[in-house]
Amino acid sequence: MEIAKKAEIIAVGSELLLGQIANTNAQFISKELAEIGVNVFYHTAVGDNPERLKQVIRTAEERSDLIIFSGGLGPTKDDLTKETIANTMGRPLVLNDEAFRSIEEYFAKTKRTMSPNNRKQALVIEGSDVLANHFGMAPGMLAEHGSRLYMLLPGPPSELRPMFENEAKPLLLKKLGSNEKIVSTVLRFFGIGESQLEADLEDIIDAQTNPTIAPLAADGEVTLRLTAKHADEKETERLLKETEASILERVGEFFYGYDDTSLVKELSKACRQNGITISSAESFTGGLFSEWVTDLSGASQLFAGGVVCYSDSVKQHVLGVKAETLADSGAVSKECARELAAGVRKLTGSDIGISFTGVAGPDPQEGHAPGRVFIGISAEGKEEVHEFNFAGSRTGIRKRAAKYGCHLILKMLDQK
Ligand code: ATP
Ligand code: MG
Repeated sequence: MEIAKKAEIIAVGSELLLGQIANTNAQFISKELAEIGVNVFYHTAVGDNPERLKQVIRTAEERSDLIIFSGGLGPTKDDLTKETIANTMGRPLVLNDEAFRSIEEYFAKTKRTMSPNNRKQALVIEGSDVLANHFGMAPGMLAEHGSRLYMLLPGPPSELRPMFENEAKPLLLKKLGSNEKIVSTVLRFFGIGESQLEADLEDIIDAQTNPTIAPLAADGEVTLRLTAKHADEKETERLLKETEASILERVGEFFYGYDDTSLVKELSKACRQNGITISSAESFTGGLFSEWVTDLSGASQLFAGGVVCYSDSVKQHVLGVKAETLADSGAVSKECARELAAGVRKLTGSDIGISFTGVAGPDPQEGHAPGRVFIGISAEGKEEVHEFNFAGSRTGIRKRAAKYGCHLILKMLDQK
């Protein structure tokens, strides 16, 4: 079969039309299909109603050659997707032994008795390829009919996602006459905005088809997902490395890691590799940085301790900030950040001390607007204070500051 050029996703479920759930299955499938070069031209949502579903199928058949259904594969009366599709194809539903066995096993494992309608879940469209469901009972299907492919997937995302990735996608690629391997990698950046990153890489992104480059911004970070395909896996690796190199040549200073790593994971790794210990003095972040660091196993190797120094009195009497500093410059100041970092380093005997002082908002403080932040770092023979003006909510400002804390220590370790 020729590679399908036009795909359509039909989500079945009245809950979608009532606004009780969002159609995240369509979003997920679309993204996955984009990565393998299948164009999705339509998203349709339809209620649990056989007549309207039939109508939608007829429309899809006129304009699409790969039709993917999500939902309505369950055991209850309103689950009618496969019955309706089988009906429009004029093909019967037949019991699939393997699916039936796995449903029986599921019941045996959970020590429940099977009801007659659970047998219904093991029925599949005759002649279809069955997609195993390892996270639920209803199997999925891929059926060829006429010149089209019909894929049926269960509604719950926890079942649909693994089924799509592990069962449906490889089979689909085979059906579409492709022996290509698809490999993706995620590059993570911090300290650069999405629009700046895209502007810096505009020509590369525009020209790129293999690998494709998909930017995504979330939580103050930007990621680029590179997806390469080629029959030879070594070649996909080479394509990915080549594109990565040209990206990092321009924005490498903001790159910090691959795939599902995080700034704090990288920080923890770097400290352990270098045998460095750290400590923190946290005013407006209230211990967020120490919480993140201690959330990771092995934290005791690198984290000496932290002080939540919310009041001026703690800043002064526990961490040794000078009374004149607080009186002249205030707690939200470069000088206070510097003294806090040095103070906590001295107090704990760690190699690096980091401090966070600033205004989380929503109200201004000491004449500073919310988002005004100072981060101090103290190390042997080295002192830095960085100044920021963050925008956003109280939570957002605290998180951003804690992330910058990780980023700045990483930079410092990098320069060593
Ligand atoms: P079940 O065996 O659980 O009944 P099913 O295949 O019959 O599965 P539905 O009954 O249509 O699927 O939906 C089950 C649940 O899956 C819904 O309550 C909802 O939480 C989720 N779901 C269904 N469709 C979607 C969708 N398009 N996007 C996101 N979630 C969905
Ligand atoms: Mg259902």
